[in-house]
Amino acid sequence: MAIQRTLSIIKPDAVAKNVIGKIYSRFESNGLKVIASKMAWLSPQEAGEFYGVHKERPFFKDLVSFMISGPVMIQVLEGEDAITKNRDLMGATDPKKAEPGTIRADFAESIDANAVHGSDAEETARGEIAFFFPAMNVYAGR
Ligand code: ADP
Ligand code: MG
Repeated sequence: MAIQRTLSIIKPDAVAKNVIGKIYSRFESNGLKVIASKMAWLSPQEAGEFYGVHKERPFFKDLVSFMISGPVMIQVLEGEDAITKNRDLMGATDPKKAEPGTIRADFAESIDANAVHGSDAEETARGEIAFFFPAMNVYAGR
C-alpha cells in the first residue's frame, strides 16, 4: 500500500443536512487527512465538466441539476490507500445497497442524492484534484 491522494465532495444534500463535520470525522478517524478544502456552489458548466465522463448516460442531466442545487464541500484526502479507503467509507452508489455504517447508508436518501463523491482510480484522482485545486492550495506535509 502507498500514500495516495483522492478527491472527495460532500454533495448538496449532505451539506444541507449539516453533516459536514460528521463526514469529516469519518475521514479523520479512518486515517485520511484533509490536505485541501473549500466550499463552492458549482455552475452548470463546472458540474457538467467535472462529470463529463457520464455525459452520455441517461442520468447526466439530473446529476448536474442536483450538483448545482446548493453548495458543496470539496476536499483532497491523503493517506494509506486513500482512494479505496474513501470508496469503502462512502459505500455503494445506491444508498439502499450500501453497507451499514458507510457514509451513504447513514446520510444519503437515494442514488441521485447520495451524499458524497470519491475518485475511483489514481488517474481520475489526479485529474479531479487538479480540476478544483491549484497545487499551491494543497497543504501536504506542512
Ligand atoms: P459513484 O459516485 O459511486 O462513483 P458513478 O460514478 O457511477 O457512481 O456515478 C456518478 C454519480 O451519478 C453517482 O454518485 C450518482 O449520484 C449518479 N448516478 C449514478 N448512477 C445513477 C443512476 N442509475 N440513476 C441516477 N443517478 C445515478
Ligand atoms: Mg464515480
